[in-house]
Amino acid sequence: MRNPVISRPTRAEIDLGSLKNNFRNIREFVGGDTRFMAVVKADAYGHGAWKCAQALESAGIDWFGVAIPAEGAELRRKGIRKRILCLGSFWAGQENMLLNQGLTPVIYRLEQAEAFDTAAKARNSIAEIHLKIDTGMGRIGVRHDEIDPFLDKFARFANLHIEGVMTHFAAADDPDSSDFTREQIGRFERALGAVEARGHRPVYRDLANSAGAIAFPDSRGNLVRLGGALYGLTRDVMPPDCELPDLKPVMSVKTQIAHLKTVPEGETLGYGRTFTTERESVIATLPIGYQDGYSRVLSNKAKVIIGGQYAPVVGRVSMDWTLVDVTALEGVRVGDDVILIGSEGGCEIRAEDLGALSDTISYEITCGINRRVTRIYAEGGEE
Ligand SMILES: *Cc1c(COP(=O)(O)O)cnc(C)c1O
Repeated sequence: MRNPVISRPTRAEIDLGSLKNNFRNIREFVGGDTRFMAVVKADAYGHGAWKCAQALESAGIDWFGVAIPAEGAELRRKGIRKRILCLGSFWAGQENMLLNQGLTPVIYRLEQAEAFDTAAKARNSIAEIHLKIDTGMGRIGVRHDEIDPFLDKFARFANLHIEGVMTHFAAADDPDSSDFTREQIGRFERALGAVEARGHRPVYRDLANSAGAIAFPDSRGNLVRLGGALYGLTRDVMPPDCELPDLKPVMSVKTQIAHLKTVPEGETLGYGRTFTTERESVIATLPIGYQDGYSRVLSNKAKVIIGGQYAPVVGRVSMDWTLVDVTALEGVRVGDDVILIGSEGGCEIRAEDLGALSDTISYEITCGINRRVTRIYAEGGEE
């Protein structure tokens, strides 16, 4: 463990063993000859893209997905060799960077296709692209009902090869929307048919995110794009009653008690004086705040785990500090470990729980753990 004298003890522990186990368990659950893309955009949802990509590469992942080309270039710089798909396409001027770095773009506009075709032609090569179809997400993609006119014009790009055709679900995690998800699958299949009818032979057909891959077997195509499930984030992004592979959270967030004091009954604590002690209380001060990604919305709501017992957050979470009431706990000392996300004894706090308290989802919680919080990588898990 780190020396608290030379660094703040606030850290995110990333269990790469659990990450790999999650991947293997999903692979077994999905079965067949489906390929797997690990979505490592946004620094692997806050878990650290390079370390996670390295671990998953060694575990046999087929592809990586990033949001923007710069994320892909960073992975290449650090030695990641597997194919990388830029899910959010690219911006004008980045064509040569993509080709130099071996990054594959998603394409959904003719201008993108034209620029990439021109760059590929200039080096006498055929460039791979993945064509995105908008089947109902309404975000990016060629609209499913406009695929024919798009393909008419796409025909002139002799230096592009449509290696993949893909779409993205809007609500595969929501049982009330399962008809809509099926409608998206149908629209995708029709658009894919139109692509193939023109003689394109895409190698990859992919629709499914984590929820699709797990809850909609007929949405798996021959490649699934997994984000949250790999990181063990499930409860708020999967249909509530669906059968899940064994998935464990990969990130824990921990710190240590920085200060302890006894406070008389009737004193107020923290900014805005939102908490008043109802008895003589022992209050611990934790060196973590909203700057670190422990949201101010958690003030007077969340709890932490100390020595295998829960302790409530009291008063406002501030930028760098959070207070917890440890009156009910015995033998608490400065320097004791505190778990903000993670488990100990019978106690567990998941990113999903903090998401629910903050009116968001677990993804925003882990993405929001600031870079000021040191990531510590362990090869724990059950290897
Ligand atoms: C982020 C993303 C995914 C992964 O979604 P999860 O819900 O985290 O599995 C898959 N496909 C695309 C296009 C994405 O943007």
